[in-house]
Amino acid sequence: MPLPLASCNDVNVCVKHLFVKAYKFKLRPSKRVAHVFEQTLDVCRELYNAGLQERRDSWKLNKVSLNFHSQAIQLPAIKTVREDVDALYSQVPQDALRRVHKAFDAFFRRVKARQTAGFPRFKSKSRYDSFCYPQSGFKLIGDKLTLSKIGSVRLRLSRPCEGNIKTCTIKHEADGWYVVFTAETEAKPLPKLSAQVGIDVGLTNFATLSSGTEIDNPRFFRAAQATLAGAQRKVARRKKGGNQRRKAVQLLARVHQHVRAQRTDFHHKISRLLVNNHQLIAVEDLNVKGLASGVLAKAVTDAGWGYFLNMIAYKAEDAGRQFVKVDARGTSQTCICGAHTPKTLSQRWHKCDACGLSNSRDHVSAQVILQRAGGLPVETLTYRNTESVVSESPYL
Ligand SMILES: [Zn+2]
Repeated sequence: MPLPLASCNDVNVCVKHLFVKAYKFKLRPSKRVAHVFEQTLDVCRELYNAGLQERRDSWKLNKVSLNFHSQAIQLPAIKTVREDVDALYSQVPQDALRRVHKAFDAFFRRVKARQTAGFPRFKSKSRYDSFCYPQSGFKLIGDKLTLSKIGSVRLRLSRPCEGNIKTCTIKHEADGWYVVFTAETEAKPLPKLSAQVGIDVGLTNFATLSSGTEIDNPRFFRAAQATLAGAQRKVARRKKGGNQRRKAVQLLARVHQHVRAQRTDFHHKISRLLVNNHQLIAVEDLNVKGLASGVLAKAVTDAGWGYFLNMIAYKAEDAGRQFVKVDARGTSQTCICGAHTPKTLSQRWHKCDACGLSNSRDHVSAQVILQRAGGLPVETLTYRNTESVVSESPYL
């Protein structure tokens, strides 16, 4: 998320525009370090669950709502009786308690907003998978990460980690340990362009652009789905509690992780192309949560639209581009001339009686979206050259 330090409109003058970027790298811990990681996770999870318990009891018995501070000041006393807590870098257990605090904050926010508010839950081993050095106690030199009270670990530095590293999180995933850094970097505005684009979320495609370019769902999505289904069936066939089932579950987790990585990679590439080639990027402000529970569920969740939009948003901010979310209502029921053009979901072609425009439904929707964002006038929209942004993408 961007952290604007100074408010100013001209990005060329405003050099102090800082961003928090996340970097994730695979770790190559020694056996000893991996063991310490596991122990640290266990202790943090225990603290998290204990913190949760204390808050629940305090609320149930005394109607007192505890805060982070009242829990964190108990840590020194805990350390005198628990060697394993004392063995941690001081900010690591604090961070576990801060997570309790955040869970309750989110809970109360949901209650206030009258949403379904699930009470914060205890975390099992599989649901507590990371611990964090929130400010200090870690150092990255080259590909060597040194963690206070743990030791050194090599990481696979797949890209340079730029900026001022603020937090360091160690995370356990299906195929091993990872580190996630958040770093403050300065925005790098790109040269201004005149090109603008509206994007329509796809049902049959991944997305359609106002230029007419259709971005297909990459082929590997379907292939991955078959692999996923296979792995899921395998889990279902195995007996509960058995060794074979445990192995099948591990395999399923690895497949899931692989699919996620492929999708993220695809989203990164497409969002990069869109941001590099357009000054204004307009999308529908879809309530993804609401939409995902309806008919479009599979299509929307599969395409991971929400994540994709976030990627465009931060890349656009970084590059000094304009990212606009417009009212999503009726984008497929309107013509760019303004006439009302009702369609059912299965009607894939747009034909306007008022102006005579005949075009694919998604293409027109993308143009309406761009129009609503204050983009190009009608004539430019309709006859715009459909230079393909997508042809540069290796996937399509
Ligand atoms: Zn029309």
